[in-house]
Amino acid sequence: MPTALITGANRGIGLGHTRSLLERGWTVHTAVRDPKGAKDLSALSEAGYDGELVIHSYDAREPDAAKKLAREVTGPLDILFANAGVMGPKAQGFGDLDFDAYLDAQRVNVMAPLALAEAFADQVSASALKVMALQSSRMGSIADNDSGGRYAYRASKAALNAVGKSLSVDLKDKGVIVLILHPGWVRTDMGGDQGLLTVEECVEGQLDLIARANPAMSGRFYHVNGQDLPW
Ligand code: NDP
Repeated sequence: MPTALITGANRGIGLGHTRSLLERGWTVHTAVRDPKGAKDLSALSEAGYDGELVIHSYDAREPDAAKKLAREVTGPLDILFANAGVMGPKAQGFGDLDFDAYLDAQRVNVMAPLALAEAFADQVSASALKVMALQSSRMGSIADNDSGGRYAYRASKAALNAVGKSLSVDLKDKGVIVLILHPGWVRTDMGGDQGLLTVEECVEGQLDLIARANPAMSGRFYHVNGQDLPW
């Protein structure tokens, strides 16, 4: 049975990926801050899918969270999906600098995915698919930034892209394929009502990309539509 681990799976894009992989018969380990409060996720357990759902407690802000998770999730891992993310403080325009709030976005969006990669590299390497997917954002593209602002979020996703590129080099010998992904503008709590894609459309596109992952794609930055994005 193919197996995935998805962070931030209680709502939004992560929940969509969980549902879709369960429909396909996968074992899906989900990592969420509040397992008891994750009602939409728990409902998937009762929906009669072929796949198996396991819910773990995980807070991306905690430095040891990934190691703790690795003690609970054993065996080969076909997809490690570092999806949990935060936009950061409401005010992050020019003049709004808040050291602690900006560092918090780095903690969740950058350090936590790197900690997951460190904790699970061998298990991903031991799987058939060997995919590490990092949920980045086009807002982390420096070349694509023509509207400014959103300093904390943009800087965190640009840093995540740098992390993903290094991981692709460092884990090449293990055969791990690191995909750096932009999900599109998706209608979720973070993306808002005006987003261009439904969660289902985003998930379908991202799972298509993952299904055709190969070593030549490792360390590259992909739009959900399959196009390469500029750094
Ligand atoms: P949501 O805000 O809907 O969901 C964010 C998820 O991340 C929630 O499950 C949330 O859990 C989890 N999370 C946040 N902080 C932590 C933490 N400290 N520990 C564990 N989990 C945490 O966002 P989306 O589903 O829209 O976004 C998912 C990813 O996609 C993010 O990385 C985001 O940056 C990226 N993205 C989204 C876009 C969009 O248009 N929606 C565009 C580009 C990128 P909780 O419920 O506990 O807060």
